[in-house]
Amino acid sequence: MEFNQSLKLKEQWGNKPCDHPKVEKVYYAGAFVLNYSCILCGTDFTVAEKLELEQMRKKQGQQTSQVH
Ligand SMILES: [Zn+2]
Repeated sequence: MEFNQSLKLKEQWGNKPCDHPKVEKVYYAGAFVLNYSCILCGTDFTVAEKLELEQMRKKQGQQTSQVH
C-alpha cells in the first residue's frame, strides 16, 4: 500500500486493538520502503517485526491445533 494510505489508516483506526491479520509492504512515490504496514490499522512493522509476527502466529496455530 502507499505510505499516505497507511497514515490515513492509522488516523482512522485510532487506538483500537488489532491483531494485524495482514501486513503489506509500503511504498512511497512508487519506490518500496523497508517497512510493512497492517492493512487494517496501519501499524508499521520492520521486516524483522513482520517475521516475528508470522512466527508467533505459527506457534499460536500449533498451540490451538494441539488443544483441539
Ligand atoms: Zn493491525
